[in-house]
Amino acid sequence: MGIKVIEEKCIGCGLCVKVCPFAVIRIENKKAIIDEAGCNLCGACVTACKKFQAIEIKREEQTPQTKDLSAYSGIWVFAEHRDGKIQNVTYELLGEAQLLAKDLNCEIAAVLLGDSGIEKETENLFAHGAQKVYLVCDPELKDYRTAPYTRVITGLIDKYKPEIMLIGATTTGRDLAARMAIRINCGLTADCTGLAIDPERKILLQTRPAFGGNIMATIISPNHRPQMATVRPKVFRKSKIQNPKSQIIRENPNIQTEDLLVKLIEIVKDESAKVNLQDAEIIVSGGRGIGDPKNFAIIEELAKVLGGAVGASRATVDAGWISAHHQVGQTGKTVAPKLYVACGISGKIQHLVGMQGADTIIAINKDPDAPIFKVATYGIVGDVLEIVPLLIRKIQEVRG
Ligand SMILES: Cc1cc2nc3c(=O)[nH]c(=O)nc-3n(C[C@H](O)[C@H](O)[C@H](O)COP(=O)(O)OP(=O)(O)OC[C@H]3O[C@@H](n4cnc5c(N)ncnc54)[C@H](O)[C@@H]3O)c2cc1C
Ligand code: SF4
Ligand code: SF4
Repeated sequence: MGIKVIEEKCIGCGLCVKVCPFAVIRIENKKAIIDEAGCNLCGACVTACKKFQAIEIKREEQTPQTKDLSAYSGIWVFAEHRDGKIQNVTYELLGEAQLLAKDLNCEIAAVLLGDSGIEKETENLFAHGAQKVYLVCDPELKDYRTAPYTRVITGLIDKYKPEIMLIGATTTGRDLAARMAIRINCGLTADCTGLAIDPERKILLQTRPAFGGNIMATIISPNHRPQMATVRPKVFRKSKIQNPKSQIIRENPNIQTEDLLVKLIEIVKDESAKVNLQDAEIIVSGGRGIGDPKNFAIIEELAKVLGGAVGASRATVDAGWISAHHQVGQTGKTVAPKLYVACGISGKIQHLVGMQGADTIIAINKDPDAPIFKVATYGIVGDVLEIVPLLIRKIQEVRG
């Protein structure tokens, strides 16, 4: 596996230099030179040099396919629960599965593991679009643990062969999906922001930000099954579609002694994580434009008068102005409130991917060309430190 410049074909035009996201190509004596150590074989330079065909990437042969892919069908959603309640991300994935299933003409199932008390939650899964629930109950499955959950779910996959498996990109889901992908030798696209079905090949198109969020990459997994993706909470909307064809398939757990080496002694909740941004209907977020950590006080006040939560850009979190629990964006939380007020936030793509799902976006920024205005429903050009107090006063007046 490697990359090489075919010297005889290279005319030193420099097109490849411009497109390399890692800046590892330079021109010397009218020939392109690639620093292989920094190259991640993304292929952008090969596309740029299509006319001259002077760059070649050699990839390893794919492992020969031993699975009969046609034996796989249906979309499965991992039903994540906490304190005995299904987490919203599961319903959001079931909502998205409805759309995918239309193109594949296939069945939607949820996989629910827990102790016997969890069975009551099957009703909620049916109410959100699952046609079947694969239910495995055992006291050892009451709370999530990597090894027994991986064992049980991969066993079900081997037996029932779903073609797509969707998992919430939560702490639990990320842990589980990675372990499963290795166990069943299939690909995994983490943190997808879009899913679709290729109309011709009928395979899953998994879109996610790449190269630090600067481009959106669509990833496919044509040779392995299931096609597995994780999606963060609030990326999709949940739908309420009661499925008339609802069926519970009970399976025995096939847990082995070695799966139980890790014991759960106590669950300690992180009390500092009080901010529930993902469920907030109104969010007021502060960015570097507020100028000083103490100015988060006016952001908090605006959030308070509106009855909302406080969000933040990564720049303010990195600067230590506010805790990371408030961060919205690619490496923070994905939110979809009814109202998002961005105060002194530039609107870099990594922030936008976390809040574009808001119904209404109000942006306050002194730079009329700030990218945040491209996604804003209403834009206010001006000093955030003047406008926010005015807004607070006006809202207080209106509300008496
Ligand atoms: C891999 C990766 C992941 C990332 N993940 C995230 C993420 O999850 N979330 C995130 O937010 N960022 C993330 N970033 C960082 C992102 O690229 C930006 O750097 C960050 O969002 C910028 O924050 P900001 O808008 O607060 O600051 P800046 O970009 O500095 O913008 C400040 C804005 O405030 C305006 N302004 C200044 N003074 C005033 C004033 N008095 N009144 C009004 N407006 C004013 C300026 O015009 C400017 O537009 C990530 C970056 C990378 C590479
Ligand atoms: S784009 Fe192709 S021809 Fe142009 S410098 Fe790069 S390798 Fe050479
Ligand atoms: S393959 Fe990608 S990273 Fe490597 S040199 Fe080409 S553009 Fe740069």
